[in-house]
Amino acid sequence: MTNLNELYQQVILDHNRKPRNYHELEDPTNTAQGYNPLCGDQLKLYVKVGEGGVIEDVSFVGSGCAISKAAASMMTVTVKGKTVEEARLLFAEFHKLVTGELDPGAENHLGKLKVFAGVSEFPARVKCASLAWHTLHGALEGTDTVSTE
Ligand code: ZN
Repeated sequence: MTNLNELYQQVILDHNRKPRNYHELEDPTNTAQGYNPLCGDQLKLYVKVGEGGVIEDVSFVGSGCAISKAAASMMTVTVKGKTVEEARLLFAEFHKLVTGELDPGAENHLGKLKVFAGVSEFPARVKCASLAWHTLHGALEGTDTVSTE
């Protein structure tokens, strides 16, 4: 676990310092606001879904703790180019990962997102890590505002 925890720290620091896809989108098809009152994290998510349900572009702006920002950054990198259905599957797996319900040996599609496994040891941080995913889900479902509370 030590290596994974070190990797986790590095990834969080890197994505917090240089968040990917951190800007507004000019022509989104879906947007949603996400709030995590417990920590004070907030973000606005922009999604552009194209033909065949492919997420052609996704971006975010907002403020919050390092984990929420890094998780949002990595979420956008992960789902860009995937279909809405694939994004839903990833959200389900990610949620199981951060709540400690995913068997690490089981097959999954998380790839680099697996570094967030460490979050399951810190229950207060689970909502920080999953805020962007909940907000993506809301945006795709047509929900304007998503709160983790
Ligand atoms: Zn937070």
